[in-house]
Amino acid sequence: MISSRTPIPRFDTFYKHDALTELLLAYAQAHPTLVSVASIGKSFEGRDIWVATVTNTANGAAEDKPAFWADGNIHAAELTASTAVLYYLHQLVAGHGTNTDEGRQITHLLDTRTVYLCPRLNPDGAELALADKPRHIRSSTRRYPFDDAPVDGLTVEDMDGDGRILFMRIPDPHGGYKKCAADPRLMVARQPGEFGGEYYRVMPEGSLKHYDGLAVRVNPDVEGLDLNRNFPTQWRQEHEQVGAGPYPTSEPEVRAMVDFIVKHPNIGAAISYHTHSGVILRPMGTQSDDDMIPEDLWSYKRFSELGAKLSGYPAISIWHEFKYHPKEVITGTQDWVYEHLGALFWVVEIWSPNKEAGITDYKWVDWYREHPVEDDLKLLKWSDEHCAGQAHVDWKPFLHPQLGAVELGGWDKMNFWRNPPPHLREREAARFPAWMTQIALSLPKLELLRTEVRALGPDTWRVRIAVANSGWLPAYVTKRALARKVTRGVMFEIHLPEGDAAVSLVSGKPRVEGPQLEGHAPKNSLQAFLPNRDVTGDRAVNEWIVRAPQGTRLAITARADRAGAVRTEVSLD
Ligand SMILES: [Zn+2]
Repeated sequence: MISSRTPIPRFDTFYKHDALTELLLAYAQAHPTLVSVASIGKSFEGRDIWVATVTNTANGAAEDKPAFWADGNIHAAELTASTAVLYYLHQLVAGHGTNTDEGRQITHLLDTRTVYLCPRLNPDGAELALADKPRHIRSSTRRYPFDDAPVDGLTVEDMDGDGRILFMRIPDPHGGYKKCAADPRLMVARQPGEFGGEYYRVMPEGSLKHYDGLAVRVNPDVEGLDLNRNFPTQWRQEHEQVGAGPYPTSEPEVRAMVDFIVKHPNIGAAISYHTHSGVILRPMGTQSDDDMIPEDLWSYKRFSELGAKLSGYPAISIWHEFKYHPKEVITGTQDWVYEHLGALFWVVEIWSPNKEAGITDYKWVDWYREHPVEDDLKLLKWSDEHCAGQAHVDWKPFLHPQLGAVELGGWDKMNFWRNPPPHLREREAARFPAWMTQIALSLPKLELLRTEVRALGPDTWRVRIAVANSGWLPAYVTKRALARKVTRGVMFEIHLPEGDAAVSLVSGKPRVEGPQLEGHAPKNSLQAFLPNRDVTGDRAVNEWIVRAPQGTRLAITARADRAGAVRTEVSLD
């Protein structure tokens, strides 16, 4: 619930690191029982990578509850990803304890589950994107694969000091572009076999070193890492995936996230926010749906459809519909979180200027390779009518220090493609809280059914504990997790006082692994040929025979890695 101390963030501006830090700490100060903020590690340049742990600690410790993780901004310039995670933090804090439908849902969520929020995994890259002279590199600011600055070629940068990086065009009979007949501001591709027109060479805005008057090659950024290629699953070297880094988790930002998630086995589902494309991406990244474990695929489809309905973004498979090249696969966080850990995972690519311009029938990656001129005209109209003509900047003459007379203009990818314009950022961020909350509420949750104590003799007792998974998902979350042996069955433990000879176990072991608990998701419809035989697959019972004096109190715990813990006490009488 909002208090007078709750921060009221702006969602139409991006926060620099210091302001973001202050904001997160202000949430923790205003709502100490609900929010705690901790650094999970330092970035390459030494900035803290913050994670906000959100749960009602009055109802149990964060680690004792099943958990949902969301992160954003692993890619430097994808700042709206931070906005989306911050927006959820604010919704959770504002909604908890309120009496609307949404408020009751959030209250139940934070009473029974934990949400870990990492709004900015890559603070260095974001800081560069927010600098006075911004640069939009892919990821980390560490130079990679080599230290050396380029000695020749075109280095992409803002040449006229207007804070934007646009395009340069130069008239050239061998150029691949021409002015569009319908709107001369637009550069469109020359047709196969076409000749005799007025053509242009188009290249990114930038400076040239050692220019010989002929050859222009655009230099890659010296900061060539892609942190999303540095995860441990399906990791491949630079020649197979650009930006991989020297070895998996070599980069401190990735190492911090991997470490945190490994140390928090209660995390059963996660989302990484990126920009852009306006699409929800689900595993797998390297295999077809035909090769997925069917139960996991069904589960993914169910939650993905829910995401599509609640967010308005289509949900697609990375392997089937989101490859950068038909013969290449993309690997990253999704492979690690699902394939290694067997937790549910999605990538959300926020924002689609195409859709904003009224282009409905487009295929994400393919569209960027080639699309009809009509689409460009729609985008130009959108720029004129909704972005004050700034998404596509009209060409203007510029005297370039190396190239001479050129024109600067074209699409402002930095400010209108990578992120929505300021007035649309909150609208995009607001698409996801309902979906995240519903995923998190579906996570397995261990609950105490009852304890029983029965006297078998004057100092001999049968002690039983029964627990249940009250969640929709099974305690192991996916079959992949079972196959990879990452989650144990429910672990029962009875705590006998140390060094007290009068108290001992007659039968049973102090710690016992029980079964894997199912959730209440129906396995079949009621018309299915065979009934579901495992009617109480969500329950487990353990018993011990204890010798102890009457009145002895014993602590018992039950824990399932992804479903949380139950702590109770029995009195022997
Ligand atoms: Zn990204």
